[in-house]
Amino acid sequence: MLTLEPWALLILPLFFALGWIAARIDIKHVVADSRRLPKAYFQGLNFLLNEQPDRAIEAFNEVVRVEPETVELHFALGALFRRRGELERALRIHQNLINREDLPAPLKEQAMFELGVDYLKSGLLDRSEEIFKRLSEGARREEALKQLLEIYQLEKSWDKAIELAERIPELAAQHEVAEFWCEMAENALIRSKTDEARRHVQQALSLHRQCVRASIIAGDIERKEGHADRAVEAWLRIEQQQPEFLALVASRIAEVYKGMGRQAEGMQLLKGFLSRYPSVDMLDVVCQQVVEEEGAQAAYDFAIAELHRTPSLIALNKALEARAAVTPAEQLADLELVKKLVKAQTQRLARYTCKSCGFKARQFYWRCPACSEWESYPPKRSEELALIQ
Ligand SMILES: [Zn+2]
Repeated sequence: MLTLEPWALLILPLFFALGWIAARIDIKHVVADSRRLPKAYFQGLNFLLNEQPDRAIEAFNEVVRVEPETVELHFALGALFRRRGELERALRIHQNLINREDLPAPLKEQAMFELGVDYLKSGLLDRSEEIFKRLSEGARREEALKQLLEIYQLEKSWDKAIELAERIPELAAQHEVAEFWCEMAENALIRSKTDEARRHVQQALSLHRQCVRASIIAGDIERKEGHADRAVEAWLRIEQQQPEFLALVASRIAEVYKGMGRQAEGMQLLKGFLSRYPSVDMLDVVCQQVVEEEGAQAAYDFAIAELHRTPSLIALNKALEARAAVTPAEQLADLELVKKLVKAQTQRLARYTCKSCGFKARQFYWRCPACSEWESYPPKRSEELALIQ
């Protein structure tokens, strides 16, 4: 049972009194604070809560006119609208701030920066570029340059991106700049400027020796010029760089060997890769080669052996396709049903997955279309990745 010393009874009322005084002081503060905020602030809040953002903006503008220090409120609102995809409104808020005569220079610069981001998000790249160019000479230089680099990448102005990244090395990693050079090389190759493309590839490799994409393009250049042997040589360098990427050039290697009339040799080479670096994309190409070289039955045996070695639905799908080719027509109905079901499943599982943001894509990307990260796609299908984990 709780027992109190007699002296404690004397102290208790004192605690109550202290608590009462503390509460009074708090309430006084709150009342004083709310009195300091103009009425328009509460109106603004009310409009915002009632989903009337335009009237809210008007009210908050009034707040800033009366109380210039509440300008942070506008930045918060601008950020909120932008996040919700209401870019028009974000633009208007930041434009309003810039137009104010009395805004101190650092805040004006902040508003300019935000306006630049609004334009960027709205796809108005030239306006955004103009703003960040201007800001890159001020206090927000580094942030502005980063945005500029992003704009050049979105515009696919790779020469400008390279020039900027070389001038300010901390803006981009070496492997990213190597990717810019690869983009240049691919563009040159499309225009059949093979010498130019070759120079760009060399630039990429000199920045990043492990740049697989540069090796792929190097092979493509040789192939375009009719040098099949040299093309294969370039692609095979990927084994020393990052061997799992060989799957991306498997069909190119097969085609080039076929073109040289050495299809069986090409098939053996790819079979060797498949045994060392299991991959469903490689399996796909090898199965096709076995069908053409040794017939459907051999392809079926091969696919079944691979299925035992690395079981996956995608490999099973390959085996079923090969099986269908050697099954008599009258027994095909059941098999077709199973094949259809498995195929439906594998389509879902045969996506490339960005390891940075998790975005899934049917095709392979060097730069994620969702999060803009370079080289964030492993050359593996989602099912393979799930099986590895
Ligand atoms: Zn991503």
